[in-house]
Amino acid sequence: AQERYASIRDTDCISACGTRIGLHMNAGLMADLPSLHGSGAEGVGLFRTELQFLIRNKMPRRTELVQLYSRVLDAAEDRRVVFRTLDIGSDKVLPYMKPIDEPNPALGWRAIRVGLDKPGVLRMQLQALLRAANGRPLAVMFPFIAQYEEFLAAREEVSKAVAREERLGHTLPEKLEIGAMLETPSLGFASQKLFDEVDFLSVGGNDLKQFFFAADRENELVRRRYDTLNASFLSFLERIVERCETSGTPLSFCGEDAGRPIEALVLAAMGFRMLSMRPASIGPVKSLMMRTRLDDLRGVIDRAIADGEQTVRPAVMDYLRELT
Ligand code: PEP
Ligand code: MG
Repeated sequence: AQERYASIRDTDCISACGTRIGLHMNAGLMADLPSLHGSGAEGVGLFRTELQFLIRNKMPRRTELVQLYSRVLDAAEDRRVVFRTLDIGSDKVLPYMKPIDEPNPALGWRAIRVGLDKPGVLRMQLQALLRAANGRPLAVMFPFIAQYEEFLAAREEVSKAVAREERLGHTLPEKLEIGAMLETPSLGFASQKLFDEVDFLSVGGNDLKQFFFAADRENELVRRRYDTLNASFLSFLERIVERCETSGTPLSFCGEDAGRPIEALVLAAMGFRMLSMRPASIGPVKSLMMRTRLDDLRGVIDRAIADGEQTVRPAVMDYLRELT
């Protein structure tokens, strides 16, 4: 499939109306790294660090993590890599950690909640990231931040790790970005301070949609019940885009929907300027994006919402069919 899009691999993704959309890839395993070159990704918008923890039968050591993360940064060369700190709990259970019995794991003790309550592993991971960067730029992103104070506490862990590395005489990253995933509706309504202080935000659409509609992303009975192009959900995303524009906060979308061409078009039309997706989706998304006027598409979306449509999908499909 990548051969089909080889001719546009090194072309910037610019829509037919001249808007540049950054297309990045999601990764997590060393096996994903060759795709950095093959897919035409501008960088890694989401590196799921928990995958390295999930494929082992014991907790990795810091030195091992330093090696892994350096290999990722080496492979990326000058492309930006966003490392998401450990996102475990819910569906992702480490075989070597004591299982906890929770009535609703998806709403339970997971991701940054574990990281802040039991900071040992998070601290080790932050040290490993700083050391792996070894002077190169570093972007760290915290999963499942539900309120401003959680971001502050997580950022404080980074500051402490930086101070420690400095004391030990290690080289600090030339640039350090600290961002948060927006995966709970609450964060979309967080204080302006959050939007002002994060270096970037990334919408984790898989979780955000699950919590927006209260529909389990793992449950086949309800998983596909609500459309990502649902008018209420798009209105919420619009609000997030506007808040980020006001505060000048770089915003991306890194859930699976970013890799679905129609969804990707709509996200771009709604104002997302950076999408992160599985590598194989970059070609198809770019190809369609380059043929579409996002400004016209936005008009179509706004009209469908104003007309009270439950989902804008039929209107978007009609519009695209007329073009071809
Ligand atoms: C998301 O929730 O959209 C996301 C990117 O994170 P994950 O799929 O790993 O939960
Ligand atoms: Mg998530």
